[in-house]
Amino acid sequence: MPKRSSKDVPGQGNAKKPKPSGHWAMGLLNTMKDPKYIVKTDDLVTVIKDVYPKAKFHFLVIPKEDISNLKAVTSKHLDLLKHMEKVGGEIAGENKGSNFKIGYHAEPSMIRLHLHVISDDMDSVCLKNKKHWNSFTTDFFVKSEEVIKSLEDNGKVVLPSKEECKKFMETPLKCHKCSVIPKNMPDLKKHILTHLEK
Ligand code: AMP
Ligand code: ZN
Repeated sequence: MPKRSSKDVPGQGNAKKPKPSGHWAMGLLNTMKDPKYIVKTDDLVTVIKDVYPKAKFHFLVIPKEDISNLKAVTSKHLDLLKHMEKVGGEIAGENKGSNFKIGYHAEPSMIRLHLHVISDDMDSVCLKNKKHWNSFTTDFFVKSEEVIKSLEDNGKVVLPSKEECKKFMETPLKCHKCSVIPKNMPDLKKHILTHLEK
C-alpha cells in the first residue's frame, strides 16, 4: 500500500495534470491488484473492499476501463454504469442484515471512476471527521440511479456545482437516521451506535 501524503479527505477534486503512479490518489489502481482486497471481478469491473471503510461494509466497484471520473463518462458508458450498479446491488445483497447506499461522490478524491457500496450504519473507526460524514450523508453522495438517469437524459452526467459541493461539506452535523443534532463528531459517533441492531 503506498503511503499517503495527504489526508484521506474527499471533496478535493482532481487536478487536471496526470498524477504519477505512486501518488496517493492513484491508490485504487494498486488495491485493485491486491488479492487481500478483491471481492469479485468480471470482464468489466473489479470490486474491492475500501481500505479505509466508512461503515461496517464498504466496497468500491471499479471499471477495468481507464475512466478517470464521472466527468469523463459519456453515453457510450451507459451500459457499464448499469453493470456497475447491478454488481453493487449483488454485493449489497450478499451482506444481509444491512441497508446499503450505492452511489458516487460528486467530487471524488481518488482517480479511476468508483462506485461506493456502503452500509448505512456509518460505524467505523475510519470515519473521523465532518467531511467524511457529510460526503456520505448529504447530496454530495449522488445515488447511482440518479447518475444513470442524468446520463440518459443529458448524454453526460450533470453533477452538483463546486459551490453546492462546498455547501454540502459545510453542512452542520446531523444524524442521518433521526433528528438528533450532535455537538461534535465524538457525540455523533456515540449517538449512531443507538441505531445499530434495531
Ligand atoms: P472518493 O472520495 O469517492 O474518491 O472515495 C475514495 C475512497 O477510496 C474512500 O472511501 C477511501 O477510503 C478509499 N481509499 C483511499 N485510498 C485507498 C486505497 N489505496 N485503496 C482502496 N481504497 C482507498
Ligand atoms: Zn439518530
